[in-house]
Amino acid sequence: MFLKPDYNLKSIYEVDFDELERIGIHAILLDLDSTIMASKSGVYTDETYSWLKNASDRFFIAVVSNNKNEEYISKVTKISDFPLLFRAGKPGTRLVRAFLDDYNISPKDCVLIGDRPLTDILCGKLLGCKTILVDSITADKESKLVRFVRKLERLSIRK
Ligand SMILES: [Mg+2]
Repeated sequence: MFLKPDYNLKSIYEVDFDELERIGIHAILLDLDSTIMASKSGVYTDETYSWLKNASDRFFIAVVSNNKNEEYISKVTKISDFPLLFRAGKPGTRLVRAFLDDYNISPKDCVLIGDRPLTDILCGKLLGCKTILVDSITADKESKLVRFVRKLERLSIRK
């Protein structure tokens, strides 16, 4: 099915960097909220920091987020030492494509990692990236309602 991600993982920590290199990936595009940061927290955990460091040793990494909140954006910008695209308009591809162009990166060399099929995975597919769907980084702490909505959204990617 079109929205089926190339990989479906529990979290970013399960991403196999060797495998990504083997399939020709040079850049990792990361959704922010719930993918690498607890939603609205504005902080990375130590574990996430070291994952980001390891990833950036081997790949170009960048955040592509639909977030529009100025205060949050400035908080995240201060603690991130890699490129960030906010107000990305996913699943639209125009702004992400222009962002990649600025860094001379071709979408086919990218993997897009996110927690939302209808925004992240769809955007990656439309761009021609590889895609990885992850569970929310705080899945164990989410309310029943949020988990229910996530389940519904995932029904759309069943084969
Ligand atoms: Mg997200």
